[in-house]
Amino acid sequence: MNLEPSFVVVFLILAAAFALRTALVTGVVARFITDNRRLAARRIFRLPYPDEQLRAELKATVGIVLFDALVATVLFRWQILQLSGSGWAAHLLTFALLFVWFELWFYLTHRLLHTKALYFIHEQHHLAKVTHPLTAMSFSLLERAILQLGVVGFLLALQHLLPLSRAGAALYLGANYLFNVLGHSNTELTPRSMRRGWFGRVWVTPTFHALHHARYGGHYGLFTQVLDRWFGSAFADYERVLDRVEEGAGLARLTERVLDPGDTGRPTGPENRLRDPQSAQ
Ligand SMILES: [Zn+2]
Ligand SMILES: [Zn+2]
Repeated sequence: MNLEPSFVVVFLILAAAFALRTALVTGVVARFITDNRRLAARRIFRLPYPDEQLRAELKATVGIVLFDALVATVLFRWQILQLSGSGWAAHLLTFALLFVWFELWFYLTHRLLHTKALYFIHEQHHLAKVTHPLTAMSFSLLERAILQLGVVGFLLALQHLLPLSRAGAALYLGANYLFNVLGHSNTELTPRSMRRGWFGRVWVTPTFHALHHARYGGHYGLFTQVLDRWFGSAFADYERVLDRVEEGAGLARLTERVLDPGDTGRPTGPENRLRDPQSAQ
């Protein structure tokens, strides 16, 4: 008797697991940022969500959960990924390599997806001018495939060269998902003390990414600001926006800028390229 689970059974189990994870994390974060008064005071954009945004994001999330389950089923069922590394060194190596590589992959593909020719692939994610935890999974299937290719392609290319581990990859993907939801919460969750020093200059805060959704033409990075700073795509008033949000006086308009007293009001850096790619098409 063949006791190997069929493709359909593996798919259904993974789809149920991914759906449960998504519902739990998104639900808990959405509830927490709404009910907690201290967090409600740290809202970034003080604007309502259009009903159709949340409906469309929920629908896209269901599609992405099924797509992710399908990809994972193919990889597991036919044992395409053979990550055999074990021990903490292998877990750490896998996590660190995936982290650095995916920062590069995400920044590059994200910038390309903002070109006029490819923006149609990325449009679904930008339904959110003001982000919601649901925005974290609001992608077109094609964009999700590009993101998956970054992770799976990297592991496939290196799995026979380096001692990569399943636990390290799973840990990275789990952290990636969690920080993605938190990063789309439209609430500044980074403790004030962590903003000081090098960490504040490197780590992407929810405010950093909220400005990407509101303004389009900058802040393409995933979890680090390094590439945005190197390639001149960081908004000049980011730190001042962060100060405002921390003071409990977030932004009231999508186009709002927080100027220094000495500023002329003329935007610098990527703000010069500020435009809505949808209207540019
Ligand atoms: Zn974008
Ligand atoms: Zn986003």
